[in-house]
Amino acid sequence: MPTYDFICEKCGHKFSIFCSVSSRDKQICPQCTDDNITQRFTTVNAYGVKGGKACSSGKCSPGCKC
Ligand SMILES: [Zn+2]
Repeated sequence: MPTYDFICEKCGHKFSIFCSVSSRDKQICPQCTDDNITQRFTTVNAYGVKGGKACSSGKCSPGCKC
């Protein structure tokens, strides 16, 4: 199963969860039990974005190293 990194929007707690894709959206913060959490992308840049700038090719996919 993949590991998903999340950050809690309420308390700022950062945590990782092993879970299936189907249960990914049902997770809660283990610290404050709030469900207002956002998935973090620590190993893959945001789509088409690197270093805060949009990719010059405009054809980036997740994992692109342009
Ligand atoms: Zn929290």
